[in-house]
Amino acid sequence: MRIIMVACGEYGARVVNTVASHGLAPDIVAVFDYDDYSGEFLDDPSSLLPPEIPDADLTVAAGLFGDLNLVAAEIAVESGSKAIIVESHAPGQLPEGLKSEISGMVESAVFPSPFCSLDTTGNPFIDSFASGFGKPEVEMDVKESVLAVRVKRSAPCGSTFYVAERIRGVPLHEVDVAAGEGFHNYPCLASMEADPALGDTHLHVAGYLTREAFKRAAGVPGVHARVNPQECLGEDCGFLCMDVCPLVRLSMNTIRRSVTAEVDPFSCGACERCARECPHGAIEMINPRP
Ligand code: SF4
Ligand code: SF4
Repeated sequence: MRIIMVACGEYGARVVNTVASHGLAPDIVAVFDYDDYSGEFLDDPSSLLPPEIPDADLTVAAGLFGDLNLVAAEIAVESGSKAIIVESHAPGQLPEGLKSEISGMVESAVFPSPFCSLDTTGNPFIDSFASGFGKPEVEMDVKESVLAVRVKRSAPCGSTFYVAERIRGVPLHEVDVAAGEGFHNYPCLASMEADPALGDTHLHVAGYLTREAFKRAAGVPGVHARVNPQECLGEDCGFLCMDVCPLVRLSMNTIRRSVTAEVDPFSCGACERCARECPHGAIEMINPRP
């Protein structure tokens, strides 16, 4: 696969370094760096096109704000890319109008927000990238504690590798907390501003996704929401808890709709929004630590 990376700022640089140093260096045919450009509005995006653009299959845009994303889309078009990934990690970084415009320019376009929510889509080029970078996934050898960790898929910024280095030797019931601490020490560069689309910040959501990977591999869920089926009214309340869960808003099955609501304890980030929203007090937060 031939990949063009279009990057800006510290976040963009991290993504390029992670992707290149963890397997995709031979696939990267060009890196276009827009560090010198700080505006969000462009009258003519093509005025910022590089003089030479190689042929490519996939264009990846990381750390670009506003109309600069259109430059990445034009690079994708010029390169013949069949797919483009345009991440955002801050509210307003990629307005809906720009997404529509980019979708109309490139055959297949995805807009993971945050980038570490990227999963496979059915497009072979996007899926080839997403097999190594996107929503974190790890494997562990465990006994009472973590013996070894293998990163199957890292957050594109590299935070999953950083956390994996620090989780060996941690008792299984402390993996959730240790993964959260490792993630914050990296530190994640996602925004701390609440995104109305998520109902939470990109930083928090990225943390939930990282912790999920380590909790799932350890087989111990950590603090999570639990629905009392005797109290839950399900359809009769319209599943209000699902409306406020930031992970359900990311199209994850963290709260499932059954006769009653059901929470997946591993992907739950313990934000407590569902517990506060439930009008019947049917959700409590559980701490399974001994
Ligand atoms: S908001 Fe409460 S009552 Fe409604 S579906 Fe969720 S848990 Fe059940
Ligand atoms: S506490 Fe509730 S709203 Fe928050 S992540 Fe868990 S299930 Fe979703």
